[in-house]
Amino acid sequence: IFSKLPKVKTTIFTTMGQLAQKHSAINLSQGFPNFEPDQNLINLVTQAMNQGYNQYAPMTGVLELREEISKKIEQLYGRHYNPENEITITIGATQAIFTIITAFIGHGDEVIVIKPAYDCYEPAIEVNGGIPVFVQLNNSDFKVDWEEFRSKITSKTKMVIINTPHNPSGTIFSTEDMLQLQQSLEKTDIIVISDEVYEHIVFDGLEHESASKFDGLASRTFVCGSFGKTFHITGWKMGYCAGPAELMHEFRKTHQFNVFSADHAVQKALATYLKEPKHYLSLNKFYQDKRDLFLSGLSNSRFKIHPCQGTYFQLVDFSAITLEPDDVFAERLVKEYQIASIPISGFNTKGIDKHLVRFCFAKTNETLVKATSILCKL
Ligand code: PMP
Ligand code: GLN
Repeated sequence: IFSKLPKVKTTIFTTMGQLAQKHSAINLSQGFPNFEPDQNLINLVTQAMNQGYNQYAPMTGVLELREEISKKIEQLYGRHYNPENEITITIGATQAIFTIITAFIGHGDEVIVIKPAYDCYEPAIEVNGGIPVFVQLNNSDFKVDWEEFRSKITSKTKMVIINTPHNPSGTIFSTEDMLQLQQSLEKTDIIVISDEVYEHIVFDGLEHESASKFDGLASRTFVCGSFGKTFHITGWKMGYCAGPAELMHEFRKTHQFNVFSADHAVQKALATYLKEPKHYLSLNKFYQDKRDLFLSGLSNSRFKIHPCQGTYFQLVDFSAITLEPDDVFAERLVKEYQIASIPISGFNTKGIDKHLVRFCFAKTNETLVKATSILCKL
């Protein structure tokens, strides 16, 4: 049959997850916690269900939740988004990203994507007839070459997608990076998707630079967030996007016919839970401790560690162990050592150094200790 996405295979997260299951492996592949969320949050959901929030939520999301998101963004990044017309609740960040692309990208439009890139961007562009134009992060420190970035902007460029903290490299954009981006887009009508799902997982006292902080970016950007990462509830698929009213108006035209609305009871629960900033401000330390435990466990291994400034992913170079391709190594790691990872080629890395795999450290300390003791045997 005719395919709009002839090259697309099943996502690497499903492939590695299934392989992990088949071999009863410790699953450090797909990014999700193997521990439970706060019981109070679960109670708030059942409470909302018992209170009768079991039918469609408003198309744009529960207002109380949008108000809390607006307050959070204003407190953290100093930008006011009107909850009425500048914030929409979505089914995870994935739906926000897909809907933004569908609402704005058509045949022949170019979208600049920084790679390695999270795997949902490229197919969403292509299925809408757009053309992904890649800017390769530097192979050693995963920084953007802004000269190269500027050279990719053409009269057809309609959108840029950035992701900070970055999955899979764990690097974050500095203030300088954001200013470079802002300056590069001056005098254009280019729209930005700023994928900030790991905004609350930043380490070593570094600060998350949200696109919403910068006047010249905020006016053209959809900032995308995800409660899945922040509250250990990836399975609830709840996210949002915030952006200027004019752009959000256009977004909602598509959103209403894409999903109409997201889970009602969960939105009610999150609106209450979000009122307490410690619920998200405690996350940096929580995951920094896990990163450090994981790294100390790997200190006697032959893996070379890439500095991780944020996210719950650790990228490692395995070239001191073997020079086989990353997907071959990752498969062997599951089969022979019962450890599942994500090979970096799952993030569109054609033509770059491939001796890298990503481990997710959003796991109990017990799991991390067990996994690293096995990884030290390689
Ligand atoms: N963007 C990035 C960079 C991610 O890692 C993820 C991971 N799940 C998403 C978007 C999607 O988030 P959600 O689960 O809320 O759809
Ligand atoms: N974002 C998660 C990761 O990078 C995976 C989400 C998914 O399976 N699509 O591992």
